[in-house]
Amino acid sequence: MLLLVVQVDDHPAWLDAVQLARGLTDDVHAVLFDASRADELAKQGIKAAHVVEHDVLSDYAPEAYGEALAQLVGELQPSGVLAVGSEKGNEVMAHLAARMRAPFAANCTQISGTGRPWLITRIRGGGMLLEDAEMDAGCGVFTVQPGAGTGAETPSTVDQVDVRRFTPDLRDELARTRVIERTEREAGVSLATADVVVSGGRGVGSAEGYRVLEELAELLGGAVGCSRVATNNGWRPHSDQVGLTGTKVAPKLYIACGISGATQHWVGCMDAKAILAINTDPDAPMVTRSTYSVIGDLHEVLPAVIAEIRARNASAGTSG
Ligand SMILES: Cc1cc2nc3c(=O)[nH]c(=O)nc-3n(C[C@H](O)[C@H](O)[C@H](O)COP(=O)(O)OP(=O)(O)OC[C@H]3O[C@@H](n4cnc5c(N)ncnc54)[C@H](O)[C@@H]3O)c2cc1C
Repeated sequence: MLLLVVQVDDHPAWLDAVQLARGLTDDVHAVLFDASRADELAKQGIKAAHVVEHDVLSDYAPEAYGEALAQLVGELQPSGVLAVGSEKGNEVMAHLAARMRAPFAANCTQISGTGRPWLITRIRGGGMLLEDAEMDAGCGVFTVQPGAGTGAETPSTVDQVDVRRFTPDLRDELARTRVIERTEREAGVSLATADVVVSGGRGVGSAEGYRVLEELAELLGGAVGCSRVATNNGWRPHSDQVGLTGTKVAPKLYIACGISGATQHWVGCMDAKAILAINTDPDAPMVTRSTYSVIGDLHEVLPAVIAEIRARNASAGTSG
């Protein structure tokens, strides 16, 4: 049984995907869009690497990646194709599966069987539950949830990787979705890694309403987040959105201001060590699940909190 493991990006969970593949067969080949990674593969037990080359693939282009992979799958006829369940991995595998007219299982933690059916365990509901499922597919398309393996190399008897070049036939229009510009993130704390996130939802009421959240975040050395209502209303950019279709955060403290705690938001903040909900509704799910809550209008509560922090800082002789 031949399995392909596709390196869509340089996500560190690559070894987890290799581990799941090697658990099924010794006949594992890698598919690379960047040839420089080929040298590392022998110690991972990978026998061959297919290096995909084409001008259109010079930077990330998910449709073109999917089409290139579909052509390679047509040539090699593997039993399955795996990639890391990163944002890019899931996007490219979805394009591949659509082109193959094959089913696709994303974010798997276990894969067994040899097709018809594949037996899989996968993450559902943004991480809220694990689902055991059967997938009836000749060639299975999967992504592997980061952390599903041990993150270590599997013992290898491979001495040298057989590196092969593959040049797909790609039309220019496949590059219509592609990276055209990269910009450095502005200085400051990033939402994904901040120790404190001050997040606002519909209750904030307007783009201007976020000034008080920004002020509190700055005082606490944190970042500002928001719910999808805020991004939909144009109050905040999508890069600030927390949740299923935004960023997943795990700060020491998540301050949820005027956010109801819908499941799609909750899965993005549930890993916070502590949650402080500020909400007018004592029965809002964010309040009932939070570590601490203040029932009240955020437009009154936040200025009072800021004034208190400033007063304490002043008496302690600190500037922030
Ligand atoms: C496929 C899909 C993906 C989604 N992905 C996401 C996602 O990634 N992130 C996300 O956030 N949502 C996401 N959603 C939307 C989600 O279902 C909710 O609609 C959204 O999270 C609600 O945002 P909210 O809590 O700001 O608004 P609401 O649900 O309207 O809640 C507003 C809250 O503010 C409180 N409030 C009002 N005024 C005040 C005040 N002055 N002071 C204090 N409290 C006040 C209210 O009591 C209420 O609890 C997704 C939905 C779908 C279908």
